Amino acid sequence: MTPSLDDMYREIILDHYRAPRGKKPLSHADITTRGQNPSCGDDISLDVEMDHGMVKDVHVNCHGCAISVASGSMLAETVKGRSFEDVKRISEIVRKMLKGEEVEVPEDLGDIDALKGVRQFPVRIKCALLAWVTLIEGMKSYEDGKHEVSNITITTEDDHEKT
Ligand code: ZN
Repeated sequence: MTPSLDDMYREIILDHYRAPRGKKPLSHADITTRGQNPSCGDDISLDVEMDHGMVKDVHVNCHGCAISVASGSMLAETVKGRSFEDVKRISEIVRKMLKGEEVEVPEDLGDIDALKGVRQFPVRIKCALLAWVTLIEGMKSYEDGKHEVSNITITTEDDHEKT
């Protein structure tokens, strides 16, 4: 019997959850940011080292459900060597995917495709977006010259829940 697509997505998510990428602390961080998703209890800290406008390295520390941890791990795997524009583009792909829109996921985005499985669970969408929103807010402040951001809280007034 061939495993269904859902099983495959689940396997990929669990693999990231069990062995999250980006665990190695950085010796130097240009951006330090934190995000929380109170509706689930997910809490993520991101340290980012920048180099000429690109993400050089990222350290992800996420305490939360499997989906938030897996999404943070996928982020760590994906964003190195990318510009802010690139990161925004990727997070837009993730957001559309979670909303159930048809998007082409470029092959160089690794396992991100597996987050498609989350769209069957609308309450989990914020879990999957947490890492991305937190990184983008941090990078935005960095571009604005603030360089350090702490404690961004992702609140629950998300459009997915008003249905
Ligand atoms: Zn969660």
